[in-house]
Amino acid sequence: MQRRSVLLPLLLVCAAAAAAAHAGGAECGLAERSGRARRDTRQAAQRQQAAAAAQQHAALHSPYPAPGTCATRLARGRRSSAGAGGPEAPRAPRRRRRAQEGGEQPAVSRALYFRGEGDQLRLKAEVELPRDAFTVQAWLRPEGGQKTPAVVAGLYDKCSYTTRDRGWVLGINTISDQGNREPRFFFSLKTDRARKVTTITDHRNYLANQWVHLAVTYDGRLMKLYVNGAQVATSGEQVGNIFSPLTLKCKVLMLGGNALNQNYRGYVEHFSLWRTARCQKEILSDMAMVTHEADAPLPQLVFQETLLNVKSIWSPMKDSPSLPQIEFTSHPGYLLDTSLDPPLCGQTVCDNKEVIASYNKLPNFRHKKVVRYRVVNIYDDHHHNPTVSREQIEFQHQQLNDAFSPYNITWELEVLEVKNSSLRHRLILANCEISKIGDDSCDPECNHTLTGYDGGDCRHMRHSSFNKKKQNGVCDMDCNFERYSFDGGDCCNPEITDVTKTCFDPDSPHRAYLDVKELKNRLQLDGSTHLNIFFANSSEEELAGVATWPWDKEALVHLGGIVLNPSFYGIAGHTHTMIHEIGHSLGLYHVFRGISEILSCNDPCMETEPSFETGDLCHDTNPAPKHKTCGDPAPGNDMCGFRSFQDTPFNNFMSYTDDDCTNSFTPNQVARMHCYLDLVYQSWQPVKKPAPIAITPQIVDRMGTFITLEWFPPIDRHFFER
Ligand SMILES: [Zn+2]
Repeated sequence: MQRRSVLLPLLLVCAAAAAAAHAGGAECGLAERSGRARRDTRQAAQRQQAAAAAQQHAALHSPYPAPGTCATRLARGRRSSAGAGGPEAPRAPRRRRRAQEGGEQPAVSRALYFRGEGDQLRLKAEVELPRDAFTVQAWLRPEGGQKTPAVVAGLYDKCSYTTRDRGWVLGINTISDQGNREPRFFFSLKTDRARKVTTITDHRNYLANQWVHLAVTYDGRLMKLYVNGAQVATSGEQVGNIFSPLTLKCKVLMLGGNALNQNYRGYVEHFSLWRTARCQKEILSDMAMVTHEADAPLPQLVFQETLLNVKSIWSPMKDSPSLPQIEFTSHPGYLLDTSLDPPLCGQTVCDNKEVIASYNKLPNFRHKKVVRYRVVNIYDDHHHNPTVSREQIEFQHQQLNDAFSPYNITWELEVLEVKNSSLRHRLILANCEISKIGDDSCDPECNHTLTGYDGGDCRHMRHSSFNKKKQNGVCDMDCNFERYSFDGGDCCNPEITDVTKTCFDPDSPHRAYLDVKELKNRLQLDGSTHLNIFFANSSEEELAGVATWPWDKEALVHLGGIVLNPSFYGIAGHTHTMIHEIGHSLGLYHVFRGISEILSCNDPCMETEPSFETGDLCHDTNPAPKHKTCGDPAPGNDMCGFRSFQDTPFNNFMSYTDDDCTNSFTPNQVARMHCYLDLVYQSWQPVKKPAPIAITPQIVDRMGTFITLEWFPPIDRHFFER
C-alpha cells in the first residue's frame, strides 16, 4: 500500500511532463519503427522464457483470480514416470546392490541385447510351433522410451495378408492415447477363428532398466499374463486353436521386434516356449530355476534359449545389419514390487496413499516440528523505509504459529534486513517475465506505471498525439515506449532523469523494475537452511503470493522460497495469504484442484469423489470448484457433468475464501505437510530426524522355502539420491 501512495503522484508527474513536452512541439528524434525486428528477437526469448516458466511450477495465489493466474496448472506435467523413458527408477538399484552385498552372488548368465534397430530374430522353421496351447516366458530388462508398441516376441503369419494379424504378441504399449504415457506390458492374441484381437495389459507401467519376469499362457480357453509370477491380467475372449495345421508353414516366431520394425530395446534372457499353459506354480518354479536341465524329461518344452549357439535356432532378418549382442549379465532375480508409486497426478512418494495413511494413523510421524523461515526486508541505504514494518512481521509471525501449531508445526522467525537503496527503490515484479515488456502485446502481469504500462503495450496510443520529438536530452514521457526506443534512451540516462521512475526499457541496466528472479539472484540467499520469504509488488493483476513446490528443483536453493505482496503481509484480514502460500510450499494443492485446475474432463487429476489419488490428493476435502463465498458454491455451470457441490472445504486455508472464513487444514493435508517436511525440508529444521515410515513389510526375495522381507527406511530426501 505504501508503494501505491507513491505511485499515484508519479503518474501525475509523468502526465504533466508529457503534456509539457508535447506543447513544446519537439519531436522524437527516431522515426516510429515497425517494431518487427525487435519483436522477433523478443518472441524467441519469450519462448525460452515460457519454457523456463513451464519448468518453474510456481504456485500462485491471487486474491482476485484472473484466468490462469494460478500456476499450479503448470505443475501437473508430472515428472516423467518411471516407465516412460525417464531416468532409472531410483529405488531398485539400491536394493539390487544390497542383495549383492548380502553375499548371494547370482550366477552369471547370458542375455540378448537388442538395440531396437533391425536386429530382431526369427525362429528357424525346424522348431514346431505350438498351435493349441502355449506358454512363453522370459526375463526382460527393457530400456526406457520404447516404441509404441514395442514387440518383445510374437507369432506372425508370413503368407497371407488376411491372416497376418492372427497369432500372438508379447510387448510394451501405451494404454493412453497421449503420446508415450503409461507404457505397459501387454499380451494380445487372435486365434484362428476369432473376429478380432484381444489384448490384456499389466495393471501398472513397466519400470525401465529393471529385470522383470514375464509369462503369457493360453490353454485354448483363457489367456493370462504374469508379471514376476503374479497373474496380472486374464481374458476368456479367445477360444480354440491359434492356427490351423494347414498354415503351420506360414507361421514365424519373432524375437525382439516384428516385420514392421516395432522393435524392442533392451535385454532378453531365458526365453522359453512351451506347448502347454504352465500354471502359476510352475511359472514361479521356472523363475527360480536358471535353466531346465537338458536331461530332465520335459516333453512340453519346445525350446529354451540358453544362447550357447544363437544361430542354431534363430536367423536374423533379411538384410539385417547384425544379430543382437550377447552380453553377460548377473541379476539376482526379479525385484518384487516394493516401490511406492505416486498416483498419476502426484509427484513424489509423499503423494502415495499408503505413505499418507501412515502419517495419518501414527501420531509419531506428526511429532512436533520446528521450521526456520527468513523474512527478507529491504531498506534504503540509510536503513530507512523498510518494505514491511516490524509490526507487520510480528503480527504475521503470531498468526502463522496460531495457524500451524495445532498441527505440530511451529515457525522460527529470522529477519534479514538488507540495506540497498537500489533494490528498495525499484519495483519488484511478482510474476512478469521481463521479456514480455514491450513485446507488442499487453500482458496484465507486467502492466504497471513503472514498466511504462508494459513498455507501452497496455496503453491505448492515439497515433496523432505522437508527433515526432527530437532526442533532446530530456526524457519525454510521450516517447517513453518501446516503439520509440524509450525516447531514444533519454529516459534511461541517469544523467538526465531519475531512472528509478522513468526507465522502462527492459534492456537497460537502469530500468525501474526487476523481476523476482533477478532479486533472488542478487540476494543469493541460502535456500537450504530457511524458507525464504521475499516481497514483490504486484502489477495490475494483484498477485498475493508465489510459492515453490517441494518437488521443484529450486526448492532448496536461492531461487526457491515464497514471494508475497507486502500489502497482504501482516495486515489484519490478509494474514492467511502467507499461510496459504506456505501450504503450497509444504506440498498442498488448492482444494479445488480436481475441478477447476484440470485441463480436460479426461485429466487424471479430475476429482469426482474425495480421493487420495485425484484432485488435491486429500481424501478429506470434498471436490469443489474455485469460489470465494464462505459456504458451498451455488449450483453453477456444468463442469464435466458436475453441477452442485456439497460440504465443500470452504473454510480450508487452501481454498480461495477470505481470512474471516478460513481456519483449518484437514488431517490429510497435515499428513502431506509432515511428509514433505521429512522428505524435502529436513535442513530447515533444527532437529532432523524423521520417523521411520510404517509401511506393511513386503517380500523382496524368495529362495526355495525362504523369503526376505523388507520394511521401508525413514523418509528423507536421500531416498531419491540412491
Ligand atoms: Zn494458491
